[in-house]
Amino acid sequence: MTSPQDPTCLFCKIVAGDIPATIVHESETTVSFRDLNPQAPTHILVIPRSHYPNAAALAAAEPATAAHLFDAAREIAQQEGIDGADGGYRMVLNTGAAAHQTVFHAHLHVLGGRPMTWPPG
Ligand code: 5GP
Ligand code: ZN
Repeated sequence: MTSPQDPTCLFCKIVAGDIPATIVHESETTVSFRDLNPQAPTHILVIPRSHYPNAAALAAAEPATAAHLFDAAREIAQQEGIDGADGGYRMVLNTGAAAHQTVFHAHLHVLGGRPMTWPPG
């Protein structure tokens, strides 16, 4: 299977190892690393190795990889100790600039380690 890449994309460069990141989890189809500007004690980005501009494009082209994002998140939540009954975590897929997407390589935010409020800003 071909794995689309964009040589100008920040997250493709992290996947390639050309830009450093604190990687916490890897699978055949995903890479997960700590967010540079964390919004919670645990703030990890789970991304596909393939380049798609957002989660919708990923789900359309590689639905199995889209599912793998959630499986990686589950394992990361266990690793980080935020999956317990008194823990809990939030998963966010900002899709489009109006939803505050700023990096146009699909990514799943995993946030935890503090109480969350709703609605989001
Ligand atoms: P978005 O706003 O697109 O949903 O989320 C993009 C996220 O990427 C932001 O939370 C931002 O802090 C993070 N980010 C941007 N550049 C870098 C980087 O070079 N390294 C890491 N680790 N995170 C980054
Ligand atoms: Zn990319």
